[in-house]
Amino acid sequence: MESTERRFDLPIVDHHAHLRPGPHAKEEVRKFERMGGTHLFLTTQNYREDPPVTLEDYRDQFLTTLRLADTLRAETTVGIYVVLAPFPVDLVSQVPLLGLGPAEALQRDALRLAGNFIREGKALALGEVGRPHFPVEPHLMEAAQRTLVAALETARDLGCPVVLHTEDLTPATYQEMGRLARGVSLPIERMIKHYARQVTPVDQRDGLTPSYLAKRDLVMGTLRDPGPWFLETDYLDDPTRPGAVLPLETIPRRVRWLLQMAEDPGAPRPTGAGPDDLDPLQCLRIPFLDAPERVYHLRLERHHPLEPHAMPPSPGHRLRDAAPGAPP
Ligand SMILES: [Zn+2]
Repeated sequence: MESTERRFDLPIVDHHAHLRPGPHAKEEVRKFERMGGTHLFLTTQNYREDPPVTLEDYRDQFLTTLRLADTLRAETTVGIYVVLAPFPVDLVSQVPLLGLGPAEALQRDALRLAGNFIREGKALALGEVGRPHFPVEPHLMEAAQRTLVAALETARDLGCPVVLHTEDLTPATYQEMGRLARGVSLPIERMIKHYARQVTPVDQRDGLTPSYLAKRDLVMGTLRDPGPWFLETDYLDDPTRPGAVLPLETIPRRVRWLLQMAEDPGAPRPTGAGPDDLDPLQCLRIPFLDAPERVYHLRLERHHPLEPHAMPPSPGHRLRDAAPGAPP
């Protein structure tokens, strides 16, 4: 069959996802791989119902993430990078159980533990660190802020990036985070705002790197952002909340969608300021090549160009000539 479609030979990266050990995780990563995904940043999470209350609990949690990463590497071709830290919201349940001082000490010890795994090369970044994204009592927020500063110091000492979990940031709170990073001499680009849900212009985010949620509208809006920025699903395979988050295969699907648009002159174009001849596919160099290199010092590669027609179409979105099982 004659083929006029564009080659897409960039890696396809999901910068933030959570998975639980088990067959479902493998199935999800295989779907991501079949859709064309190449690299996944796997962030730790609480795997039990109750948050950790001892350093041993955190060790179990981090080792669970590391073992899961090994399994996924062995069973798929997807490059898996692990991100580890005690989740900042854990403090909210630890303080009433342990008391303020011991809860903060536990967070610091867990940061040190995560740091050891990073130093050994088993994980790549410290995350999620930050503060609860919902209102909490002042003493809890102050404890979270002190823990955040400790996290930034740990990242500075390790020379690694930090992935921030916070409320939605405004230009003012981007500045607040920037001050914290500069206060401990952490390179500002290496501070990543995870779960960015709106495009904050580059001159209003004080040098931080946003990791944008890969919703369709947001992807369109980010394409004119000069970067660095990432795309993420924040996938969470929580059986009690099916469909609550973006599926793990979302980012490769977005790439296929942009490929299809690139071939369709009547398709909507990215919105915002800038030239109309902007090439969305070239823009994807930012989240898939440039940002991994600038922020993580990683050079990512895709070994085989994406086969846009070899996959079934995204539900409700036409992929030209797409047919399940079509020959490559
Ligand atoms: Zn997350």
